[in-house]
Amino acid sequence: MKLKNIIILVLLFNITLFAKLNIIVTVAPQKSFVEKIGGKFVNVDVIVPIGADPHSYEPTPLQMVAVTKANIYMKIELEEFEKPWLPKLSAQNRDMKIESIAKNRTHINFEQEKEDEEHTEHKDEHHHSAEDPHIWTSPKEVKNIAKNILDILINYDKKNENIYKSNYENFLKEIEYTDKKIRETLKDTPKNTKIMVFHPAFGYFARDYDLMQIAIEFEGKEPKPKMLAYMIREAKKDGIKTIITEPEFSDKSAKVIANELKAKVEAISPLAPNWSENLIDLAKIIASSYH
Ligand code: ZN
Repeated sequence: MKLKNIIILVLLFNITLFAKLNIIVTVAPQKSFVEKIGGKFVNVDVIVPIGADPHSYEPTPLQMVAVTKANIYMKIELEEFEKPWLPKLSAQNRDMKIESIAKNRTHINFEQEKEDEEHTEHKDEHHHSAEDPHIWTSPKEVKNIAKNILDILINYDKKNENIYKSNYENFLKEIEYTDKKIRETLKDTPKNTKIMVFHPAFGYFARDYDLMQIAIEFEGKEPKPKMLAYMIREAKKDGIKTIITEPEFSDKSAKVIANELKAKVEAISPLAPNWSENLIDLAKIIASSYH
């Protein structure tokens, strides 16, 4: 074989061996999940930056350009963002495949506010009670997400199947550890303890660990003064001692309620990339405040 041909072969070999899958995801925890399984064979870009509200985020022109290099968009069925934006992102890159890592997820709706007579006007607003998209705050759902990511990666990159599988097994161990740690932390927290949060991002977490999430915000809006007064009365009855806010949202009404209750305000972001530590921290906050 001629030297020139050998060089070409080596070059080709290198390209196929080291070509990474360029993947785009909606929120930061997804990036962590995809990287856990894809390891060095994936290059993951997040569309909604940490600190931005994924329910109303609009991609920058630079991000639109980044999409032109992507092989796969792994959506998480965060419909408020993905429904309007995915078609536009797709238009930038017709070759980009769209896959869901939320396949076979369980579905829960946002808890409805308790209503008394003065809040019947809220009933209609809340009527189309929306589905909760924050599945990644539940280790149980993260297990399902991990399986979906594994299947997608193998489908697009069969030759690294064994590596993906062994990464997946390690990731499952981390998920199980997280779940165990949360259960241990919450072992003395009474069942159905109410946790007050600003943005209802922890519904799946609450479901998994027998807690009840009470959200101050509803469908993206700060409560009106009347509603706020009602919430303060309820929160007093429930003995709420801590209000969980998120850096992504205003904590104005949370602070008003906290002042009235002499409660603490603690910020936890459901978008943190270190999802495991973050959920364990949330459990610690709940455990230290609610019993
Ligand atoms: Zn959210």
